[in-house]
Amino acid sequence: MIVGEQKSISEIKTIIAPYKKILIMGCGTCVKTCFAGGEDEVAVLASALRLACKKDGKDIDIEEFTVERQCEDEFIQEGAPAVSRNEGVLSLACGAGVQALARRFVKTPVLPGVNTTFIGVLEKQGVFTEECAGCGDCKLAIFGGICPVTRCAKKLLNGPCGGSQNGKCEVNPETDCAWQMIIERLRILGQMENLRVYVPPKNWQTSLSGGPRKMVREDHMI
Ligand code: SF4
Ligand code: SF4
Repeated sequence: MIVGEQKSISEIKTIIAPYKKILIMGCGTCVKTCFAGGEDEVAVLASALRLACKKDGKDIDIEEFTVERQCEDEFIQEGAPAVSRNEGVLSLACGAGVQALARRFVKTPVLPGVNTTFIGVLEKQGVFTEECAGCGDCKLAIFGGICPVTRCAKKLLNGPCGGSQNGKCEVNPETDCAWQMIIERLRILGQMENLRVYVPPKNWQTSLSGGPRKMVREDHMI
C-alpha cells in the first residue's frame, strides 16, 4: 500500500487560509489503512479545523466527503457535486490522488493534506515499513523476497557491507540489516546458491530516475 501521514493542523490551517468554503475529501483505500485519510480521519480533521478556526475568529464552512479511491475517475466523479459547492478541496489522499483530483477539477484549487511517504506493508497494528521503491525491474526472486534496493541503506545488490552488528544496519541501528535477513531467508529456502549470482549494477532508467513512467495495457483499453 501507499503509506502517508496527515500534515499537522497548523500546516493545514495555513494551506486552507485563503478559503471560506472547503471540502475535505478522503480516500477509502491506502490512506484509510494507514490512518491518514479515510472517512474517520476526514471527520476528526474537519472537527479539529472547525474548532481551531472558531478559536481564531475565522468563518469557515467545511464539508466532508470520502470516495473509495481518489486515483480513479470513476470514483472521483461521485464527489463532483460536493466539489462544485466549495471554493477548494483539501485532499487526504496520496499525491497521486491529489493530482487526479486536480486533473479532474481544473478550476478548483486542490490542496494536499497528507505527506505521501512510501510503498510499504502493515508490519503490525500501527507500524508500517517501507518495502518497495517501485524500481520497475523487480529482482526479489534472487533475494529471497527481501528487497535490498529499498531495505539496505546502501542499496547493495551483491552481499552485505560488513558493517552490521547484531543483525542491525550500521547506518541505522534501529533497522534490521537487509542482507542478514536475505541470507537467513535464502538459508530457509535452501537457495544459498543465489548468493553466487552476480547482480549487475542496476539500470535506474526503469525507475523514477528515468523520468515519470507510464504503463499502457492495451488488453484492458476500450
Ligand atoms: S526490486 Fe524493485 S520492484 Fe522489487 S521490491 Fe525492490 S524496489 Fe520494488
Ligand atoms: S548493514 Fe546491512 S542493511 Fe545496512 S548498509 Fe550494510 S548491508 Fe545494507
